[in-house]
Amino acid sequence: MYNFIYRTVVNNNLIQYEQKGATNVKQLNFIGIGGATTIELGGNCCYIKNNNNLLIIDVCEEATKKLLNTSAFNNINKIYIILTHTHYDHIAGLGVLLWYSNFYLNKTPQIVYNNEAYKQSLIELLRITGVTDKFYNFINEKSLNFDFSVNMQPTSHVSYLQCFGIMFKDEFGKYYYTGDTKDIDYIRKLSTDEVIKTIYCEVAEETYDVHIKYEDIMDLDKNKLILMHFDTYRLYKRAIKDGFRIAQMAKTNKTKVSSKTQNPYL
Ligand SMILES: [Zn+2]
Ligand SMILES: [Zn+2]
Repeated sequence: MYNFIYRTVVNNNLIQYEQKGATNVKQLNFIGIGGATTIELGGNCCYIKNNNNLLIIDVCEEATKKLLNTSAFNNINKIYIILTHTHYDHIAGLGVLLWYSNFYLNKTPQIVYNNEAYKQSLIELLRITGVTDKFYNFINEKSLNFDFSVNMQPTSHVSYLQCFGIMFKDEFGKYYYTGDTKDIDYIRKLSTDEVIKTIYCEVAEETYDVHIKYEDIMDLDKNKLILMHFDTYRLYKRAIKDGFRIAQMAKTNKTKVSSKTQNPYL
């Protein structure tokens, strides 16, 4: 029988939506909530564990170390990766994660895609950075086997890259993860849609016309929004002060990183 708990952490208070007898947990665990230059907050990346499988959304710089430090790799069968787009703050740790997974975890991650052109661009990206195709596989989003569906929805961010937001759906509703986007109209539409339970929304002070402007979300339903990908630390502090929910960092532990030596440059 399908069981479900959806949890999110709000300003250090755990808010839990629980169904009786639930055994599975779906929770976005963030290892970074910053924009490209918000060093203090880290690159915007998160993961979900479901049925002992690990789904990682974007792979920031030092993602492998941060995932280790939050026990993300503990007791997992398979690793899946969704890349919302290929701006460096979202893929900087990709090669190392793929190598580490193969050499130290004996797992070959599966990269989720929803169209051939995007798949080919990721193959090329990995090829020119020295990651051969034996270190990863691809899986179509329709073939994923979680307790929720995943839909990579094209969004407008910058004209020269394919960019996606992610719509998760389960029997209780839908949950949207914006990726990087400038499509405020879509966020507004989702925020008034009853089926949408949560919107993980990127925000920026200085949008350069490619991000969601903080002022544009101030009148939206705060119960539905969880903010992330702040372009400045100042905005992060301001959003907390203004009563917004903030994507919370996963708890870290003191896992010892393996020091086995192997040559990944094969
Ligand atoms: Zn970004
Ligand atoms: Zn971007």
